[in-house]
Amino acid sequence: MRKFFIFLTIITCVLSSSVFAMTPTYANDAKFSRGVGNCCYYVDSAASGYTNQINDAAYNWENTGYGWNPIYMTAVSSNYATHIDFYAATPATNVYLNSSVLGFTSFWNSNSAVIVTPPYSPSYNYFYTEIMFNLSASDSYDYRTAKHEMGHAFGLAHYENSYSIMFPDLAGTYVTTVQQCDHDTINYLYN
Ligand SMILES: [Zn+2]
Repeated sequence: MRKFFIFLTIITCVLSSSVFAMTPTYANDAKFSRGVGNCCYYVDSAASGYTNQINDAAYNWENTGYGWNPIYMTAVSSNYATHIDFYAATPATNVYLNSSVLGFTSFWNSNSAVIVTPPYSPSYNYFYTEIMFNLSASDSYDYRTAKHEMGHAFGLAHYENSYSIMFPDLAGTYVTTVQQCDHDTINYLYN
């Protein structure tokens, strides 16, 4: 009986590591149609208070510590032809923000038409994204928030794993940086 229990435990570990090794993607593996090898991002003046967090997140996604991935980020001074634009607003000025939303990502096509806004996720490839921070939520300034939203922009969905930067709730997120599971999904999507 004891041997049987140990055997079951081993099987469970193998199963869980193979099934849950990567952060989930959106339906149909929706992602940037242009890839992430030349990923330009623009920080609007409204989001200037998040500049350090954004630059830190860009650096972390480029340099995860888990080996190579195709992400290459460049900060630019106009939102022309960018991959990611950063803005900030309050619940009073943006309908998708409320006191429990630190930020959100919206997905756009090449005709500057929005494809998906919260709480929905894209199900086909998109041209660019906009990340909106909630100026009224102090946790929006937490360095994990920019990394988490940038993960959405790349095509990562929420992951019910506290050791992923894509865990949906900041208070329950045990890590402060992009993790192997997040890094592996970038390579899965874009290689
Ligand atoms: Zn999220």
